[in-house]
Amino acid sequence: MINLTSLDITNKNLVIRVDMNAPITDGIVADASRIRACIPTIKLALENNAKVLLISHLGRPEEGKFEEKFSMKPVAESLSGIINQEVGLVDRLDSEDIFKSAFNIQILENIRFFKGEKANDKDLGNTLANLGDIYVFDAFGTAHREQASTHSAIEQSKIACAGLLLEREIDFLTKALNDYQNPYVAIIGGAKVSTKLELIKYINNVADNIIVGGGIANTFILASGLNVGKSLIEENMLDTAKSILDQGKIILPKTAITSESFEGKNINKKLISDIKDDEMILDLCIEEETTQLINEAQTILWNGPMGVFENKAFEEGTKDLSLSIAKSKAFSLAGGGETLSAINKYIKPDDVSYCSTGGGAFLEFMEGKALPAIKVLNSKENGR
Ligand code: AMP
Repeated sequence: MINLTSLDITNKNLVIRVDMNAPITDGIVADASRIRACIPTIKLALENNAKVLLISHLGRPEEGKFEEKFSMKPVAESLSGIINQEVGLVDRLDSEDIFKSAFNIQILENIRFFKGEKANDKDLGNTLANLGDIYVFDAFGTAHREQASTHSAIEQSKIACAGLLLEREIDFLTKALNDYQNPYVAIIGGAKVSTKLELIKYINNVADNIIVGGGIANTFILASGLNVGKSLIEENMLDTAKSILDQGKIILPKTAITSESFEGKNINKKLISDIKDDEMILDLCIEEETTQLINEAQTILWNGPMGVFENKAFEEGTKDLSLSIAKSKAFSLAGGGETLSAINKYIKPDDVSYCSTGGGAFLEFMEGKALPAIKVLNSKENGR
């Protein structure tokens, strides 16, 4: 794969696919983390007198239709504040004119307003590929999607390369996947086994222990023969959970916080062997044994909360886990939207070796899958 740093970009026109899919509330960016993550590549371009056209999607608009609530306008304003210069907003794909603009940084309207994005349309890909001199892919969060701006444009551009964020993501994620040190502890929490099954199976090959949490733990607890009452479980995952349990790497929780409702009716702390039929497990306690595993680990992978941490009554497990990971000297990698909000809530991103910007892309990469955008970027190297 060609990296941006290996190319001469002086005075060039760069089209950069970024992931600026930021949450918008009342027309204002509510959390600019995703925009900030793109700054290193943009700065490098500007330092080399290159002009930049940014491309991103935002939300899920109906394709081919402009919808104000999915406009990139708030993103352009937020970026302008962060980088301290004006950012132009472009709503047409006109290769003749775009880089003639006085703005050094421009952002294209939501790429999902353009017909053909989702279908990986060759014509749209070709238009994007020919807008500038170099097509830079820096949107790790969308690298698992085979769409016009994440695949066809890369395939058809004269020169396509990885931006600084993508390069960093690949370096850190590869370290946890192929170049890790043992003991290796994976912590997999969140709502459902089905969405993380491939990750659990793949990580089972590399990790020494897998600490399960959240709704995922419930299915494993039930598979181990214990009662979980009204807890969230996945019946159709029970046989799979049993066979994974038999491989001996899953660490089941011992103590849970239960309630009779999500709102917190009759909250109790109890052993997982004592759960009653009308109770739900909504949080798990971090045992001494778990803290010790984290302390002794050389590599930690974390995805998914221990409980319904959005509610203060059920945050203890996720909070204690965050604090243990922050104290550990291991190489620690975290990914997933809920995991990053927990990190921002209880510790700091700097307390973890690396926080991935990807949700679905992070999971697929860590499942050992080849992501379409990365695959096509790799094939460009062959044609160099
Ligand atoms: P995920 O996106 O799969 O990582 O799931 C995150 C969500 O799982 C969070 O919003 C949590 O509220 C939810 N969650 C965690 N533990 C439980 C549980 N025991 N029961 C139901 N939902 C849970």
